[in-house]
Amino acid sequence: MTTPPVRTACPYCGVGCGVLATPDGHGGAAIAGDPAHPANGGRLCSKGSALGETLDLEGRLLRPRIAGREAHWDEAIELVAERFRSAIAQHGPDSVAFYVSGQLLTEDYYVANKLMKGFIGSATIDTNSRLCMASTVAGHRRAFGGDLVPGTYEDLELADLVVLTGSNLAWCHPVLYQRLAAARAARPEMRVVVIDPRRTATTELADLHLALRPGSDVALFNWLLARLEANGAVDAGFVAAHVADFPSSIAAAREATMAATVSATGLDPVDLERFAQLFTRTERTVTVFSQGVNQSSAGTDKVNAIINCHLATGRIGRPGMGPFSVTGQPNAMGGREVGGLANMLAAHLAIENETHREAVKDFWRAPTICERPGLKAVDMFEACADGRIKALWIMSTNPAVSLPRAGDVAEAIRACDFVAVSDAVADTDTTRLADVLLPAAAWGEKSGTVTNSDRVISRQRAFLPAPGQSRPDWRIICDVAAAMGWRSAFDFETPAAVFREHAALSAVAARLGSAFDISALATLSDEGYAALPPTRWPLPAEAPARERLFGDGRFRHADGRARMLPLRHRAPAVATSSDYPLILNTGRVRDHWHTMTRTAKSARLSRHMAEPYAEIHPADAARAGIAPATLVTVTSPFGSVTVRALLTDRTPKGSIFVPMHWTSQWARCALVDTLVGAETDPHSGQPESKAQPVRITPFAPAWYGFAVSRERIDPATPYWARARVPGGWQAELADGAVPEEWRAMARRLLRAPEGAEAVEMADPARGSYRIAIREQGRITAALFASRDPVAVSRSFVAGALADAGKATPGDLLAGRAGLDMPDPGATVCACFEVGVNTIVDAILRDGLTDIAAIGEALRAGTNCGSCRPELAALVAANRAPVAAE
Ligand code: SF4
Repeated sequence: MTTPPVRTACPYCGVGCGVLATPDGHGGAAIAGDPAHPANGGRLCSKGSALGETLDLEGRLLRPRIAGREAHWDEAIELVAERFRSAIAQHGPDSVAFYVSGQLLTEDYYVANKLMKGFIGSATIDTNSRLCMASTVAGHRRAFGGDLVPGTYEDLELADLVVLTGSNLAWCHPVLYQRLAAARAARPEMRVVVIDPRRTATTELADLHLALRPGSDVALFNWLLARLEANGAVDAGFVAAHVADFPSSIAAAREATMAATVSATGLDPVDLERFAQLFTRTERTVTVFSQGVNQSSAGTDKVNAIINCHLATGRIGRPGMGPFSVTGQPNAMGGREVGGLANMLAAHLAIENETHREAVKDFWRAPTICERPGLKAVDMFEACADGRIKALWIMSTNPAVSLPRAGDVAEAIRACDFVAVSDAVADTDTTRLADVLLPAAAWGEKSGTVTNSDRVISRQRAFLPAPGQSRPDWRIICDVAAAMGWRSAFDFETPAAVFREHAALSAVAARLGSAFDISALATLSDEGYAALPPTRWPLPAEAPARERLFGDGRFRHADGRARMLPLRHRAPAVATSSDYPLILNTGRVRDHWHTMTRTAKSARLSRHMAEPYAEIHPADAARAGIAPATLVTVTSPFGSVTVRALLTDRTPKGSIFVPMHWTSQWARCALVDTLVGAETDPHSGQPESKAQPVRITPFAPAWYGFAVSRERIDPATPYWARARVPGGWQAELADGAVPEEWRAMARRLLRAPEGAEAVEMADPARGSYRIAIREQGRITAALFASRDPVAVSRSFVAGALADAGKATPGDLLAGRAGLDMPDPGATVCACFEVGVNTIVDAILRDGLTDIAAIGEALRAGTNCGSCRPELAALVAANRAPVAAE
């Protein structure tokens, strides 16, 4: 009998795609997109499609641990409760803190927030969402009087102009990008503008790419606002009826002259005028913004500069128009709804408002309530370092990697008197620092809800048993709360019970003016919760649901009006200097997620980008003496990383880009957040993660290496980065000293058993050494070493591990495929594992002229579609020129 699929939601980005998971009965599951989910209509991106490859239990934390030894749950819970109780008794409620995560489900978040704010009586609970979209929250609250995303994904499809600013949608929100690309294909008259210092995969869709200087978005949108007024695009009736502070805002915008704007942004006046003309004449305009806007010391002003343009033109709350924030994490929005940030109360209520505080306290029947905002993420870890925080509980996140000045954050965690960490993964940079580890159930093993970027609440449903002694986070939090003496307030039996209380509290909030109202769900039965379909809020009990907000021109400030803000451009907090002449931009790659604890399990995903790298403009590289494919050390005042140099003009002169994902488990020295300073936005507390001055210097080793093995490779070299490949592991290596004896070193590194056949090729004059290990007729490991970066097909060599003896040691050591084994090159299409060489060959050989033809010939791009922007770039770069008639 076949098991029916379980409807759940993807655990990665804020698009919030619906997933069908069909358990295989052996701990795994087949994964498909849910055709009935409104976010994705059956599509999944490369990460979502590979979820089934990430379900194994390798590396899982399966039992509680205290000081490194296994412990019983009761002992671990009692210890956490006791250490929190005693810190509070001796030093007060502000001496303890929770640092939580946009990966938590709403039910987890709700009880964590309730425990900290209503029972402990502090607001020092903050979340890694602070690093993601706190500036949007602050901008929404300033403009709208509440943290409210006005529109829906459908608006991107209905728009005639989509402006994407600070958003590499193609890689970071791939299914939403595909919806936009499909709409664009169906309506070629739609226009797309991309505003980003880099030429990213998203710019493949752009009619106009504005490669502005990092951090100059306020200058650009201020200028745009003044141009909109000059062009007669202001909706005077809407402004008069629904918007406050227009005169002061427009006066500030008028200061942004063309000359000042060109100087601040570095943009061409012709491109600026084109942008202004497009925006002026297009009623149906959506402006999508994301981390490129938020992660800035002027992030909140950037958000408001965008919103100003929409308020002035009245383009908000109607189909196909509005400012639109897309969140990075799967449940950043759910966290906002329960008040999981240090400056928010539950259900979008305000800590600063006494009536709100009393209402929440009464509803919870709580002994106390926080009276002021708590410490935001960066400040929280500073308080750990200087001893103000005595007990810290980190849930489902890895701040020793992901916070700015990550090295100092690791030291702060180490310095804290008591640290508990709940996580599904045993070994992370943060779990290594914990006094107590609490095993949490992972995606697929726990149940609850998440809210995506367009306010749709989706169920995450368990389809696998929780392994070992792991428990859902909400259960762990309630157990600790009970042990601290608050059992009756936390005696939830199920996540459904938590959700009902959350929904009931939203009714209280709605009576106080909050737009977050899901009171219609407050009486949901367990069966109703189990069957809950994707549901957009607001969903009041006694009024009809609405798709879009503000269509009636009524905002959430007390007078019902939105606020425009007078804004002025501020450059990033720290300027470049002769010591640190380049701007470091950080961000995501297409096929990895956060600190790779899940995605690195998939060999398929790891083959898109197998190594940490720095995108550097060729002119900057030449100036620093850095050659293609060599290694580069990136240094800031706070630390350094060593990564592969990727020379490309996709990154502008004066900037470099380094991805954020690689941790100590995957590379020797690539924690990019050790470079980033702790400057934050004054309104949101969000760190400036995309404008850190740095310098680059060559890392000049005596030799470079590339190794594959069926066993995990654990190098001791000063540079290494490893990744999974089908049938084993690969590692890039570099060392400052040539080994005395290559063979002995290689056998140690590759863990070759005594007696295993070794075939070698050495050329001492050229400084090259190669060895292949064969056991029972199959290649089990190999090392390629040379004075220069190793020029060998990674996919071919790695493929030899899984090819059942087809590759000979001779072919392998020659580093070339046999005639019947063409080298596919680096993976572009992760779904069908189609490499760049295969694609370029087909374009050149068969004269393919578009993505559809590539799909027909090779299947590449026909499943998840995440590689389609890269396919378009390959077609553009390799298509034969059309002969003149
Ligand atoms: Fe998951 Fe990809 Fe959908 Fe994001 S776009 S929710 S990562 S499947």
